[in-house]
Amino acid sequence: MSAGWPFEDMHVHSTFSDGAATLEQNIERAIELGMTRLTCVDHVRRDTDWLPEFVSAVEPWRGHRQIEVLCGIEAKILTLEGDLDLPGDTSGVDRIYVADHQMPGPDGPIHPREVAAALVAGEASANRVVGELVDATAAGVARDERSVIAHLFSILPKLGLDESAVSTESIDALADCTARVGARIEIDERWRCPGPRVVRPFLQRGVEVLASTDSHRLETLGQFAFVRSTFDSLGVGPSPPGDDA
Ligand SMILES: [Zn+2]
Ligand SMILES: [Zn+2]
Repeated sequence: MSAGWPFEDMHVHSTFSDGAATLEQNIERAIELGMTRLTCVDHVRRDTDWLPEFVSAVEPWRGHRQIEVLCGIEAKILTLEGDLDLPGDTSGVDRIYVADHQMPGPDGPIHPREVAAALVAGEASANRVVGELVDATAAGVARDERSVIAHLFSILPKLGLDESAVSTESIDALADCTARVGARIEIDERWRCPGPRVVRPFLQRGVEVLASTDSHRLETLGQFAFVRSTFDSLGVGPSPPGDDA
């Protein structure tokens, strides 16, 4: 079932943010590798002013014979209400990657180091922290049907936790919300998450699951190991374009 890899890479950074290669170099590399889908994703903040140029840079590739190129932006979750670190106008953007780069807090993001220290000191409970993270992620995803949950739970190791700290009920609730909004989730090679137990409830609800390297340089674009083995252990592959099954 893993024949044909890599046919997509749905999270690749360029020089628009912290990637080493230009957007054009990434797309040309994906075509060279025979891919049929690529999402150009760069980090944004509220004050990002290059979004129109980024959208314009993707534009000439739309309708390409061999590859479908999408325009994505990645924004961290700021608050428990799911506010995202996004510019106000996101027109022309196909996908919004909702990312756990910091711990969402009541008044804004909290550095993972602070949360880890509070957990060690017994001032915060793992249950509550994980519950708040899942709720904030769901609230962020629910804001826009263009949402993709980026590297879900990549923050947990930074807090001294892992996916086993997340209850099945929490994962189910997040998968329900994602399915309801018509959003998606990725499996991320760079952060090696989420694992099969987390992904399965999304698949069961018909949520599209994307293969992403989260690549920041040409050499890693389309190079899958963790992602591929996770799909294999779930007995499925990422849905190729035009697959209506
Ligand atoms: Zn990220
Ligand atoms: Zn990224």
